Order: sequence, then C-alpha cells, then structure tokens
Amino acid sequence: MTTSDLHDLRERTREFARARDWAPFHTPKNLAMAMSVEVAEVAEHFQWLRSGADAELDDATRAAIRLELADVLLYLVQLADQLDVDLHAAAVEKMALNAIKYPPKPR
Ligand SMILES: [Mg+2]
Repeated sequence: MTTSDLHDLRERTREFARARDWAPFHTPKNLAMAMSVEVAEVAEHFQWLRSGADAELDDATRAAIRLELADVLLYLVQLADQLDVDLHAAAVEKMALNAIKYPPKPR
C-alpha cells in the first residue's frame, strides 16, 4: 500500500460519509470504538480454532476475514483523518523506533 493508496481511501471515505451526512457521528471516539469492534470481528473468526494456524482457515472464512480487515482499515483511515495523522509517515516513524527498540539479530 502506497501513500497515494491511503490518500485514495481517505478521499473515498470522506465522500461516502459526506453523501450520507454521517460527519456528525464520525467523532474520534466513535471511530476508535467502531475500529475496535471491527478488530474484534476479525478475531472472532479465529475464536475456538485449535491452533489458529493458516491451514485451519477455509475459503469462506478467508473471504470473511478479508472484508473484516477492510472494515478495520477503513475506520483506521477515517480516525487518522479526523486526528490529522499522516498514517504512512506515522507508520514509518514507528518502524524506525521499533528498529531501535528491537535491534536485528547479528548474523
Ligand atoms: Mg465488520
């Protein structure tokens, strides 16, 4: 996913919400809660699996997980938009911090 992919999603979610007059509902709190629910919907597909390993997932479950991941991403993009966060820049910065916190193994 590139920066322009994220910008495209941001524009699409803005237009989707605008066309439905949903802006008053899209407070950061509401978007954070909605994103949290969607994360739980992803996790629900793995609930009670013996190991949760990839081989345990059938095609229908994979298709459902795919759409739940999209829900998570769409709320993430909207939450970042409301908070004026550049998701790509924030993710790159966080990876740099993670690299310092967790140095690579010497080879
Ligand atoms: Mg969902």
